[in-house]
Amino acid sequence: MLEKLISTIESYNPQADMQQVIKAYNFANQAHEGQLRNSGEKYIVHPVNVAIILAELNMDTPTIIAGLLHDVIEDTAVTYDTLAEKFGKEVADLVDGVTKLKKLEYKTKQENQAENLRKMVLAMANDIRVIIVKLADRLHNMRTLEYMTDEKKKAKAIETIEIYAPIAHRLGISRIKWELEDLSLRYLDPDNYYDLVEKVSKRRREREAYIQKIIEILKEKLGEMDIKSDISGRPKNFYSIYKKMYNQGKAFEQIFDLTAVRILVDNIKDCYGALGIVHTLWKPLPGRFKDYIAMPKPNMYQSLHTTVIGNEGEIFEVQIRTYEMHKTAEYGIAAHWKYKEGNVKSDNFDDKLTWLRQLLEWQADLNDPREFMETLKIDFFTDEVFVFTPKGDVINLPDGSTPIDFAYRVHTAVGNNCVGAKVDGRIVPINYKLRNGNIIEIITANGSAPSRDWLKIVKSTQAKNKIRQYFKQKDRDINIAKGKEQLEKEIKRLGYKPADILKDEWVKNVASKISINSIDDLYANLGFGNISINQVISKLREYYKEYFKVTDEAAFVDSKIQQPQQKKKNKPNQGIVVKGVDNIKVRFSKCCNPVPGDDIIGFITRGRGVSIHRTDCPNIGSDIGYEERLIEVSWDLEKKASYSAEIQIKAIDRNGILAEVASRVTESNIGLLSLNARTNKEKVVTINMTLEINDIEQLKDLMRKLRKIKNITDVYRVTA
Ligand code: MN
Repeated sequence: MLEKLISTIESYNPQADMQQVIKAYNFANQAHEGQLRNSGEKYIVHPVNVAIILAELNMDTPTIIAGLLHDVIEDTAVTYDTLAEKFGKEVADLVDGVTKLKKLEYKTKQENQAENLRKMVLAMANDIRVIIVKLADRLHNMRTLEYMTDEKKKAKAIETIEIYAPIAHRLGISRIKWELEDLSLRYLDPDNYYDLVEKVSKRRREREAYIQKIIEILKEKLGEMDIKSDISGRPKNFYSIYKKMYNQGKAFEQIFDLTAVRILVDNIKDCYGALGIVHTLWKPLPGRFKDYIAMPKPNMYQSLHTTVIGNEGEIFEVQIRTYEMHKTAEYGIAAHWKYKEGNVKSDNFDDKLTWLRQLLEWQADLNDPREFMETLKIDFFTDEVFVFTPKGDVINLPDGSTPIDFAYRVHTAVGNNCVGAKVDGRIVPINYKLRNGNIIEIITANGSAPSRDWLKIVKSTQAKNKIRQYFKQKDRDINIAKGKEQLEKEIKRLGYKPADILKDEWVKNVASKISINSIDDLYANLGFGNISINQVISKLREYYKEYFKVTDEAAFVDSKIQQPQQKKKNKPNQGIVVKGVDNIKVRFSKCCNPVPGDDIIGFITRGRGVSIHRTDCPNIGSDIGYEERLIEVSWDLEKKASYSAEIQIKAIDRNGILAEVASRVTESNIGLLSLNARTNKEKVVTINMTLEINDIEQLKDLMRKLRKIKNITDVYRVTA
């Protein structure tokens, strides 16, 4: 085995340091001493085969040595430091990288997480060679999978087809991709796999002579045109036939490109030359020609594909490409090492770089591309970090994320109740920066809450939004409580029982009147100060009056209210114009005491002239037949007159309050016709005043002044 390894390396890299390879073999052999594989073989068989696969990919010596040593950190007592000391940091880092990737294999995986897992595998390896060693490791394990339990076979096969084969494909290493796919299929769908193998080999035997004849014809024609070439028949891999059959619902017999004829030539010019010859010899099938030379595939695969109809009506595919393209097709990114280690300096180095950059979906700016190439460090997803839940689900977060970001990703409640976190089993600070492959366990406590400082720590927008949302909600809750408390306090102060006046239905109506959706929103707005308490209370009071059928709410504060003595002050006709009527007797109604500025209407009485009411007076328009006795009237503003108006004041009693009220009235040059004050048990004083005023503005002005007096809570006009 060691000999096979050495001869394979020598075949492409005679200058390789074989002493180091042999030293690594001996070291690994000793480290794994006593360990057996499931097959019963000595363990060393596995790492040597992995190294051979790497040598077949023409990998550099450190990668092959890492292949020999890839299991020693994980499975034996050997440490990173020992490896670094004996084989150098480069090899030790590679082995360490493979060891880290290994830990991924023990997680449960969900189908929809495949893409995340693929990214994670790529993100966890900081050197692309780590992934290539990993692929070689997986390939050999898949080749020897038969010794595993059925359950394990299936799990490995699923993981391989979902994670590792696509990675190999992405890196352009089709040689490994095909084998991984076929091996997986063998364990995932054994019946169809073996059926397919049989059909394919039967068909191939049937066609072998035919394909051989085609190759002969091609060789001759290409030779005539001076095109140097290698021509071979190339079987398709089983998995791609299988996929075609099941994805496109085709029968095996309908798949005609089972074998492709492959022509390898020296240069691009010869590719198109060969294509011309093929199309001259046989008729091309329409719509089947593909120029991947002009338009390479995303993994940089280049080739000409055409399907033609042979002389005997047989359909077959022809692939034409240069040796260089072929190497890329088979080895993908691994083909690059030829340039790194070999003496051949590629003259189109920058093209290679573009190739690699595209291949890796490299997006960040490369300031020093050469350095990047030399170190071969990869950074596929610099802006993302991939971590596990304790159940093994992969979660991707922005780079720099913390356990808090993780917690909010899992669930809002987990985030809000997060009090700490364990990473890989150890308690970490809440601002710990998550690293690829970490297993995160969030510690929560019911009733605990986020801190505003978290906004400075978290990285993901999701976590930020959720924390902000939490505080917005919390502020709202506080405002609701505050608003409700203020309202109740005011209600009590005015002498009501909150339970009597704060009826849900009424509060809801009040809210909708000022375009607020819910009771809570109303309280929140009160608490925040968006709306005034008086605004709400005055509306509630209307419902209250209506409900308890009272016209004077003071009755509920004090058992009895004494109506002030109304003196007849208004002279007939004074200050009023009655439409269409001259010199008619008018009187002001006592029920609503209209004053200039109020909207008014006249009511023709029987024998007592026209009585003037406010248009909003409840005594107007309530009886049938009254409408025809209504008459339009207006204020005659040129005539000076005085009118009586009654107001009511609510206040918390204190010494001297009445004197202050009275002095405001006299200061305003308003006549005070009557004043009545009562105090109830809760020290709420109700003051009723009848005033002699000239117009509504004068009254409003006085009411404004009265409201400013200390302890006065409300001033309003009273309609009897
Ligand atoms: Mn291994």
